[in-house]
Amino acid sequence: MLRWFGVGKGDEVIIPAYTYSATANVVVHCGAKPVMVDIGEDFNIDAQKIKAAVTSKTKVIIPVDLAGYPCDYEAINSLVVEPGIKSLFKASSDNQRKLGRILVLADAAHSIGARYHGKMSGNLTDITVFSFHAVKNLTTAEGGAVCLNLSDPFDNEEEYKCLCIKSLHGQTKDALAKTQIGNWKYDIIEPGYKYNMTDIQASMGLVELERYNADMLIRRKEIFDAYSDRLSEFAWAQIPEYENDYKTSSYHVFLLRIKNIGEDLRDKIIQSIFSKGVSVNVHFIPLPMLSYYKNSGYNIDHYPVSQNAFSREISLPVYYDLTNEQVKLVLDAVIDSVEENLQL
Ligand SMILES: *Cc1c(COP(=O)(O)O)cnc(C)c1O
Repeated sequence: MLRWFGVGKGDEVIIPAYTYSATANVVVHCGAKPVMVDIGEDFNIDAQKIKAAVTSKTKVIIPVDLAGYPCDYEAINSLVVEPGIKSLFKASSDNQRKLGRILVLADAAHSIGARYHGKMSGNLTDITVFSFHAVKNLTTAEGGAVCLNLSDPFDNEEEYKCLCIKSLHGQTKDALAKTQIGNWKYDIIEPGYKYNMTDIQASMGLVELERYNADMLIRRKEIFDAYSDRLSEFAWAQIPEYENDYKTSSYHVFLLRIKNIGEDLRDKIIQSIFSKGVSVNVHFIPLPMLSYYKNSGYNIDHYPVSQNAFSREISLPVYYDLTNEQVKLVLDAVIDSVEENLQL
């Protein structure tokens, strides 16, 4: 979608410092520069800090709904139409001229099914991208989806057709259309890519989609509630926010933080949890702490909230087949491990 918008060398794209590397890597692939912004207490990009990162080179903001909890889209969507911000924007492609402002491209890899002011994720910004990778809430093993929600003068149906061509070698007809009687002639209108979803993957996705809201999402919420209810009893536990009066999460991963600890103690607690037969994780190592980005000049000291959140974070397992007994096993292992280590 960055290529569709004509993002390239010399351009900047604003992303959170706390996300999976895919959010930043795609910017690098286009030859542009990821400009990182710190997060807030909810793990999402701090919308109040975006404005200071905008320059005349900014083409796109990629907010990430971390763990499935929607970002502050009211603030982000209103920022890009502020007259002072709009007048900074320098269009250098047809789609940039047509939009006339910074594009808001949501990385909703975690948030399919999440809600914000009564609207679903996918419908909250200009464009949204979902991931259907094997670890996500809804999977087709690999793959994803792009949701177009562009306003006038864009015709979303037309843009959809352009993307279908781009995703299939730049060819004007797919293989099935070409087999129709008298329909063999095709054209290549651009040096396209090959990133179409296969029919086999799509058939998995259709089944997953059908059971998603009424079954999968409900089970995930039960697991979140169970973790939250039990852990709330402990003063050391900082429970992640996953719903308020106008937002609900897609319950992707449960980002527990332990209060007042550092990275070393967090790592020890994780080891204790592992030794009790429970596998936990950390989502994510902030980008400035990873070799490629560190060596490119990003410094974690400039992102203190990300650094702090990371150093105290332990992600608890959340998946459909996790039984209530296993949820209890996870909770017992986490509680015992924290208490053992905090006493040292
Ligand atoms: C998984 C993930 C992606 C990338 O998804 P792929 O389908 O592997 O390309 C992007 N952003 C975030 C935040 C993710 O967790």
